[in-house]
Amino acid sequence: MAFKQRYESDELKILRSLDNRMVLSPSDKQHYLNLKKGYEGEVMFDEMTEKLKCECHILNDLLFKVNSSTFQIDSLIIMQGQIHIFEVKNYAGNLIYGDDYFKTEANTEIQNPQHQLNRSEVFLRQLFQIHKIKLPIEAQVVFINPEYTLYQCPLNKPFIFPTQLDRYFQKLNQTPSKLNENHMRLAEKLILMHIKKSPYTQLPLYTYEQQKKGITCFSCDSFSVRVNNRKCVCEDCGYEESVESAVMRNLREMVLLFPEMKVTTNLVHEWCQVIESKKRISRVLEKNMKIVGMGQWAYYVEK
Ligand SMILES: [Zn+2]
Repeated sequence: MAFKQRYESDELKILRSLDNRMVLSPSDKQHYLNLKKGYEGEVMFDEMTEKLKCECHILNDLLFKVNSSTFQIDSLIIMQGQIHIFEVKNYAGNLIYGDDYFKTEANTEIQNPQHQLNRSEVFLRQLFQIHKIKLPIEAQVVFINPEYTLYQCPLNKPFIFPTQLDRYFQKLNQTPSKLNENHMRLAEKLILMHIKKSPYTQLPLYTYEQQKKGITCFSCDSFSVRVNNRKCVCEDCGYEESVESAVMRNLREMVLLFPEMKVTTNLVHEWCQVIESKKRISRVLEKNMKIVGMGQWAYYVEK
Protein backbone atom coordinates (compact mmCIF):
# COMPACT_ATOMS: atom_id res chain seq x y z
CA MET A 1 0.00 0.00 0.00
CA ALA A 2 1.33 3.43 -0.96
CA PHE A 3 2.50 5.70 1.84
CA LYS A 4 0.60 8.46 0.08
CA GLN A 5 -2.29 7.50 -2.17
CA ARG A 6 -3.36 9.18 -5.38
CA TYR A 7 -6.87 10.60 -5.65
CA GLU A 8 -8.77 12.18 -8.48
CA SER A 9 -8.33 15.94 -8.24
CA ASP A 10 -11.33 18.20 -7.68
CA GLU A 11 -10.52 19.75 -11.05
CA LEU A 12 -10.97 16.42 -12.81
CA LYS A 13 -14.13 15.62 -10.84
CA ILE A 14 -15.64 19.02 -11.64
CA LEU A 15 -14.79 18.78 -15.34
CA ARG A 16 -16.29 15.28 -15.56
CA SER A 17 -19.45 16.53 -13.94
CA LEU A 18 -19.63 19.62 -16.17
CA ASP A 19 -19.00 17.51 -19.25
CA ASN A 20 -22.00 15.40 -18.28
CA ARG A 21 -24.31 18.25 -17.33
CA MET A 22 -23.50 20.95 -19.92
CA VAL A 23 -21.66 21.44 -23.20
CA LEU A 24 -17.99 22.24 -22.67
CA SER A 25 -16.15 24.43 -25.15
CA PRO A 26 -13.76 22.41 -27.39
CA SER A 27 -10.71 23.64 -25.47
CA ASP A 28 -12.25 22.85 -22.06
CA LYS A 29 -13.28 19.44 -23.37
CA GLN A 30 -9.72 18.81 -24.58
CA HIS A 31 -8.33 19.91 -21.23
CA TYR A 32 -10.74 17.52 -19.48
CA LEU A 33 -9.78 14.61 -21.75
CA ASN A 34 -6.06 15.31 -21.22
CA LEU A 35 -6.47 15.36 -17.44
CA LYS A 36 -8.52 12.17 -17.54
CA LYS A 37 -5.99 10.39 -19.73
CA GLY A 38 -3.12 11.58 -17.55
CA TYR A 39 -4.84 10.36 -14.41
CA GLU A 40 -5.59 6.97 -15.97
CA GLY A 41 -1.91 6.62 -16.90
CA GLU A 42 -0.81 7.49 -13.37
CA VAL A 43 -3.21 4.90 -11.93
CA MET A 44 -1.75 2.30 -14.32
CA PHE A 45 1.72 3.16 -13.03
CA ASP A 46 0.51 2.95 -9.41
CA GLU A 47 -0.70 -0.58 -10.06
CA MET A 48 2.87 -1.48 -10.99
CA THR A 49 4.59 0.27 -8.09
CA GLU A 50 2.11 -1.39 -5.69
CA LYS A 51 3.56 -4.74 -6.71
CA LEU A 52 7.13 -3.81 -5.75
CA LYS A 53 8.52 -6.31 -3.28
CA CYS A 54 11.62 -4.42 -2.19
CA GLU A 55 11.52 -2.28 0.95
CA CYS A 56 10.37 1.17 -0.12
CA HIS A 57 7.95 3.98 0.63
CA ILE A 58 5.78 5.04 -2.31
CA LEU A 59 4.43 8.59 -2.35
CA ASN A 60 2.06 9.48 -5.18
CA ASP A 61 1.00 12.83 -6.55
CA LEU A 62 3.10 15.36 -4.67
CA LEU A 63 3.03 19.12 -5.03
CA PHE A 64 5.74 21.22 -3.40
CA LYS A 65 6.73 24.82 -3.18
CA VAL A 66 10.34 25.92 -3.03
CA ASN A 67 11.09 29.63 -2.83
CA SER A 68 8.13 30.84 -4.89
CA SER A 69 7.96 28.06 -7.46
CA THR A 70 5.60 25.11 -7.25
CA PHE A 71 6.42 21.78 -8.82
CA GLN A 72 4.71 18.46 -9.08
CA ILE A 73 5.94 14.88 -8.83
CA ASP A 74 3.72 12.08 -10.13
CA SER A 75 5.41 9.34 -8.09
CA LEU A 76 8.28 9.30 -5.63
CA ILE A 77 9.83 6.13 -4.25
CA ILE A 78 12.10 6.18 -1.23
CA MET A 79 14.60 3.32 -1.10
CA GLN A 80 17.49 2.80 1.27
CA GLY A 81 20.12 4.69 -0.68
CA GLN A 82 18.14 6.45 -3.38
CA ILE A 83 15.05 8.47 -4.15
CA HIS A 84 13.35 7.77 -7.46
CA ILE A 85 11.01 10.29 -9.01
CA PHE A 86 8.79 9.63 -11.99
CA GLU A 87 6.93 11.80 -14.45
CA VAL A 88 4.25 9.57 -15.98
CA LYS A 89 3.04 10.21 -19.52
CA ASN A 90 0.11 8.42 -21.10
CA TYR A 91 0.92 9.31 -24.72
CA ALA A 92 -0.50 7.02 -27.38
CA GLY A 93 0.37 6.58 -31.06
CA ASN A 94 3.50 7.64 -32.89
CA LEU A 95 5.57 10.63 -31.89
CA ILE A 96 8.84 11.95 -33.26
CA TYR A 97 11.52 13.00 -30.79
CA GLY A 98 12.77 16.57 -30.66
CA ASP A 99 14.95 18.19 -27.99
CA ASP A 100 12.35 20.86 -27.30
CA TYR A 101 9.19 19.30 -28.67
CA PHE A 102 7.88 15.91 -29.68
CA LYS A 103 5.85 15.99 -32.88
CA THR A 104 2.72 14.00 -33.60
CA GLU A 105 1.94 12.63 -37.06
CA ALA A 106 -0.47 15.55 -37.48
CA ASN A 107 2.49 17.84 -36.76
CA THR A 108 1.21 18.99 -33.37
CA GLU A 109 3.96 19.83 -30.92
CA ILE A 110 4.08 18.44 -27.39
CA GLN A 111 6.67 19.79 -24.99
CA ASN A 112 9.47 17.28 -24.41
CA PRO A 113 8.57 15.90 -20.96
CA GLN A 114 12.24 15.83 -20.00
CA HIS A 115 12.03 19.60 -19.41
CA GLN A 116 9.25 19.17 -16.89
CA LEU A 117 11.19 16.35 -15.26
CA ASN A 118 14.40 18.40 -15.06
CA ARG A 119 12.51 21.29 -13.50
CA SER A 120 11.03 19.02 -10.81
CA GLU A 121 14.40 17.43 -10.16
CA VAL A 122 16.19 20.78 -9.77
CA PHE A 123 13.52 22.08 -7.39
CA LEU A 124 13.46 18.85 -5.40
CA ARG A 125 17.24 19.08 -4.94
CA GLN A 126 16.80 22.64 -3.64
CA LEU A 127 14.09 21.48 -1.27
CA PHE A 128 16.31 18.63 -0.05
CA GLN A 129 19.18 21.04 0.49
CA ILE A 130 17.00 23.37 2.57
CA HIS A 131 15.81 20.44 4.69
CA LYS A 132 19.22 18.76 4.81
CA ILE A 133 18.03 15.59 3.11
CA LYS A 134 21.02 13.84 1.63
CA LEU A 135 19.68 10.94 -0.47
CA PRO A 136 20.58 11.05 -4.18
CA ILE A 137 17.72 11.52 -6.65
CA GLU A 138 17.15 9.62 -9.86
CA ALA A 139 14.52 11.12 -12.16
CA GLN A 140 12.77 9.41 -15.04
CA VAL A 141 9.92 9.89 -17.48
CA VAL A 142 7.71 6.82 -17.75
CA PHE A 143 5.73 6.26 -20.94
CA ILE A 144 3.00 4.01 -19.68
CA ASN A 145 0.79 3.43 -22.71
CA PRO A 146 1.67 0.17 -24.54
CA GLU A 147 0.44 1.71 -27.81
CA TYR A 148 3.16 4.32 -27.99
CA THR A 149 6.24 4.69 -30.13
CA LEU A 150 8.79 7.49 -30.01
CA TYR A 151 10.80 7.72 -33.22
CA GLN A 152 14.36 9.03 -33.42
CA CYS A 153 14.84 9.10 -29.68
CA PRO A 154 18.53 9.30 -28.64
CA LEU A 155 19.71 6.49 -26.39
CA ASN A 156 20.91 8.44 -23.37
CA LYS A 157 17.55 9.86 -22.30
CA PRO A 158 15.99 9.28 -18.86
CA PHE A 159 13.00 7.59 -20.45
CA ILE A 160 11.35 4.27 -19.58
CA PHE A 161 9.30 2.90 -22.46
CA PRO A 162 6.31 0.56 -22.04
CA THR A 163 8.32 -2.45 -23.18
CA GLN A 164 11.02 -1.72 -20.59
CA LEU A 165 8.79 -1.31 -17.56
CA ASP A 166 8.75 -4.95 -16.42
CA ARG A 167 12.50 -5.16 -16.53
CA TYR A 168 12.88 -1.82 -14.80
CA PHE A 169 10.74 -3.02 -11.87
CA GLN A 170 12.59 -6.34 -11.73
CA LYS A 171 15.81 -4.35 -11.36
CA LEU A 172 14.34 -2.16 -8.62
CA ASN A 173 13.18 -5.28 -6.79
CA GLN A 174 16.69 -6.68 -6.88
CA THR A 175 18.26 -3.52 -5.48
CA PRO A 176 19.15 -4.21 -1.83
CA SER A 177 17.09 -1.86 0.34
CA LYS A 178 16.57 -1.81 4.11
CA LEU A 179 14.50 1.06 5.44
CA ASN A 180 14.82 2.53 8.92
CA GLU A 181 13.23 5.26 11.06
CA ASN A 182 14.93 8.00 9.07
CA HIS A 183 13.28 6.88 5.84
CA MET A 184 9.93 6.87 7.60
CA ARG A 185 10.53 10.36 8.96
CA LEU A 186 11.53 11.54 5.50
CA ALA A 187 8.28 10.17 4.02
CA GLU A 188 6.27 11.90 6.74
CA LYS A 189 8.18 15.14 6.22
CA LEU A 190 7.49 15.08 2.47
CA ILE A 191 3.77 14.58 3.13
CA LEU A 192 3.80 17.55 5.51
CA MET A 193 5.46 19.69 2.84
CA HIS A 194 2.96 18.60 0.19
CA ILE A 195 0.54 21.37 -0.87
CA LYS A 196 -3.05 20.17 -1.08
CA LYS A 197 -4.52 22.87 -3.25
CA SER A 198 -3.06 23.02 -6.73
CA PRO A 199 -2.48 26.50 -8.18
CA TYR A 200 -2.70 25.07 -11.69
CA THR A 201 -6.43 24.38 -11.88
CA GLN A 202 -8.04 25.60 -15.04
CA LEU A 203 -11.82 25.58 -14.87
CA PRO A 204 -14.36 27.26 -17.17
CA LEU A 205 -16.96 29.67 -15.83
CA TYR A 206 -20.28 27.93 -15.29
CA THR A 207 -23.63 28.56 -13.61
CA TYR A 208 -26.20 26.48 -11.78
CA GLU A 209 -28.80 27.26 -14.45
CA GLN A 210 -26.57 25.80 -17.18
CA GLN A 211 -26.43 22.39 -15.56
CA LYS A 212 -28.69 19.56 -16.61
CA LYS A 213 -30.50 18.43 -13.46
CA GLY A 214 -31.16 14.85 -12.50
CA ILE A 215 -29.57 11.88 -10.77
CA THR A 216 -26.81 10.35 -12.84
CA CYS A 217 -25.85 6.68 -12.82
CA PHE A 218 -22.78 5.90 -10.70
CA SER A 219 -21.61 3.36 -13.22
CA CYS A 220 -22.21 5.00 -16.63
CA ASP A 221 -23.10 8.67 -15.91
CA SER A 222 -26.44 8.28 -17.71
CA PHE A 223 -29.41 10.43 -16.69
CA SER A 224 -31.82 7.56 -17.45
CA VAL A 225 -32.22 6.69 -13.79
CA ARG A 226 -35.65 5.81 -12.40
CA VAL A 227 -36.74 5.21 -8.85
CA ASN A 228 -38.01 1.77 -7.93
CA ASN A 229 -39.00 1.63 -4.25
CA ARG A 230 -35.78 2.11 -2.29
CA LYS A 231 -33.55 1.87 -5.32
CA CYS A 232 -32.41 4.01 -8.21
CA VAL A 233 -32.11 1.84 -11.30
CA CYS A 234 -30.21 2.85 -14.45
CA GLU A 235 -32.20 2.10 -17.58
CA ASP A 236 -29.05 2.13 -19.71
CA CYS A 237 -26.72 -0.20 -17.81
CA GLY A 238 -28.93 -1.74 -15.12
CA TYR A 239 -26.85 -0.42 -12.23
CA GLU A 240 -28.78 -0.28 -8.95
CA GLU A 241 -28.07 2.01 -6.02
CA SER A 242 -30.07 2.86 -2.92
CA VAL A 243 -32.01 6.14 -3.20
CA GLU A 244 -30.15 7.37 -0.14
CA SER A 245 -26.71 6.78 -1.59
CA ALA A 246 -27.68 8.17 -5.03
CA VAL A 247 -29.09 11.37 -3.49
CA MET A 248 -26.02 11.88 -1.29
CA ARG A 249 -23.64 11.22 -4.20
CA ASN A 250 -25.41 13.66 -6.52
CA LEU A 251 -25.74 16.22 -3.75
CA ARG A 252 -21.98 16.06 -3.11
CA GLU A 253 -21.43 16.55 -6.83
CA MET A 254 -23.61 19.69 -6.66
CA VAL A 255 -21.70 20.97 -3.61
CA LEU A 256 -18.38 20.40 -5.38
CA LEU A 257 -19.65 22.42 -8.37
CA PHE A 258 -21.32 25.12 -6.25
CA PRO A 259 -19.66 25.22 -2.83
CA GLU A 260 -21.30 28.60 -2.09
CA MET A 261 -24.88 27.31 -2.46
CA LYS A 262 -26.79 26.38 0.68
CA VAL A 263 -28.02 22.79 0.68
CA THR A 264 -31.79 22.79 1.27
CA THR A 265 -34.48 20.21 0.66
CA ASN A 266 -35.90 22.29 -2.19
CA LEU A 267 -32.54 22.67 -3.89
CA VAL A 268 -31.69 18.96 -3.64
CA HIS A 269 -35.20 18.12 -4.82
CA GLU A 270 -34.65 20.25 -7.90
CA TRP A 271 -31.11 18.95 -8.48
CA CYS A 272 -32.16 15.29 -8.30
CA GLN A 273 -35.42 15.66 -10.28
CA VAL A 274 -36.46 12.01 -10.15
CA ILE A 275 -37.28 11.80 -6.43
CA GLU A 276 -40.90 12.93 -6.28
CA SER A 277 -41.36 13.32 -2.55
CA LYS A 278 -39.62 16.21 -0.80
CA LYS A 279 -40.20 14.35 2.47
CA ARG A 280 -38.01 11.57 1.21
CA ILE A 281 -35.21 14.02 0.37
CA SER A 282 -35.61 15.58 3.83
CA ARG A 283 -35.23 12.20 5.49
CA VAL A 284 -32.01 11.49 3.58
CA LEU A 285 -30.62 14.92 4.49
CA GLU A 286 -31.58 14.61 8.14
CA LYS A 287 -29.96 11.22 8.40
CA ASN A 288 -26.70 12.05 6.63
CA MET A 289 -26.08 15.72 7.29
CA LYS A 290 -26.17 18.30 10.03
CA ILE A 291 -28.87 20.96 10.03
CA VAL A 292 -27.89 24.59 10.58
CA GLY A 293 -30.45 27.29 11.43
CA MET A 294 -34.19 26.96 11.79
CA GLY A 295 -37.41 26.94 9.79
CA GLN A 296 -37.29 28.39 6.29
CA TRP A 297 -33.64 29.45 6.68
CA ALA A 298 -32.42 26.01 7.65
CA TYR A 299 -29.78 24.36 5.49
CA TYR A 300 -27.58 21.30 5.69
CA VAL A 301 -23.83 20.84 5.97
CA GLU A 302 -21.61 17.75 6.14
CA LYS A 303 -21.50 16.22 9.62
ZN1 LIG B 1 -25.86 3.26 -15.87
